[in-house]
Amino acid sequence: MTCPFCSSAEVERVAQWGGQIITAQWRCQACNSYFEAVRDDFNDEPSDRGDARQPGDRRRDLPPARRY
Ligand SMILES: [Zn+2]
Repeated sequence: MTCPFCSSAEVERVAQWGGQIITAQWRCQACNSYFEAVRDDFNDEPSDRGDARQPGDRRRDLPPARRY
């Protein structure tokens, strides 16, 4: 990952999520700019947004039934 403004590699991820589910927010330590980039670790996305999953998987996201 390098900064899109100054091409420095001195970047750190400041937020797990950016404006979209597949992006994360990063900050460049060289020029102090914030930017978003597509996540490398997209595999661990939360299942509750689910648009990349099979339709049948949605019911797994329901809360467990309450026990009395
Ligand atoms: Zn920079």
